[in-house]
Amino acid sequence: MKRIGILTSGGDAPGMNAAVRSVVRSCVYNGVEVYGIYYGYQGLIEGQIKKLTIGSVGDIIQRGGTMLYSSRSEEFKTEEGRKKAINQLKQHEIDGLVVIGGDGTFRGAMKLTEDGFPCIGVPGTIDNDIPGTDFTIGFDTALNTVIHSVDKIRDTATSHERIYVIEVMGRDAGDLALWAGLAAGAESILIPEVESDFDDVVEKIRRGHDRGKRHSIILLAEGVGSAVDYADRINEKLNVQTRYTVLGHVQRGGSPTANDRVLASRLGAYAVDLLISGEQGRMVGIEQNKLVHHNIIEILNKKNHIDTGVYELSNQLSI
Ligand code: ADP
Repeated sequence: MKRIGILTSGGDAPGMNAAVRSVVRSCVYNGVEVYGIYYGYQGLIEGQIKKLTIGSVGDIIQRGGTMLYSSRSEEFKTEEGRKKAINQLKQHEIDGLVVIGGDGTFRGAMKLTEDGFPCIGVPGTIDNDIPGTDFTIGFDTALNTVIHSVDKIRDTATSHERIYVIEVMGRDAGDLALWAGLAAGAESILIPEVESDFDDVVEKIRRGHDRGKRHSIILLAEGVGSAVDYADRINEKLNVQTRYTVLGHVQRGGSPTANDRVLASRLGAYAVDLLISGEQGRMVGIEQNKLVHHNIIEILNKKNHIDTGVYELSNQLSI
């Protein structure tokens, strides 16, 4: 392996830059040339490829987003598109690729590996929804962004004795709502993986109010429904002021936490080690604080699960 390419793809996540830095510097450390592919798979098709050096990744470890930019590419999903991509890789004499992104990005990496081009996937998404790793890059930062917002909303919720429904990202995955709910002491957590009963939520609020509680915070993952509708329903049922906040894209940005920077640095370097040692079609992850790698296809065929212990604990502590 003489020349490795790196790209970021799909939804951006804080810590992607730290991963890019780690890949680039690990390549240089191992005497391998490294090329940055800009704008994800679309940029690969179009040949937006530039050599990176140690200095190219200076001053980025603390930045959110991705210096390589990201994109979504429908063309890459076609055989034609991938042929163009492989031609670009051949022209630039790139022997292997590290891709940083979510499950869509991994599907793309798998297709390339099947077409005979070695790829390693590094999980970067705030959703924490990739099996085979306890945490994905960006999750911890997003989690911290959510709890800081919830803490602030709690101040006004308490002052005005209100109920707040706070909608966080997570169309299919509830980890962000779940962990933020536990960390911010939410009264109820509503996530796509667990069916919830509206009457139970209302009953919990009522119980709290009966014993003098001044506010309630409900964390709702976007996949469960809209915070606006949910707040309206509570208002109708209890006739108490219920407000909603949709946190939106603030959750995707910001300087990565120490945990995300360390995770990104470890996973990026590990991906390079694997490529150099001849592995392909693998994803890297961390399980019980140990670096691991798995076959990407097996991972993509697995269903992601929430940690039911965390869910039960949050219920137990918000009685
Ligand atoms: P994420 O990686 O965050 O899940 P997406 O699902 O948007 O984001 O995937 C990112 C990109 O990966 C897509 O725009 C597409 O170019 C590529 N991709 C996704 N699914 C496939 C697939 N089945 N085959 C080839 N490429 C894919």
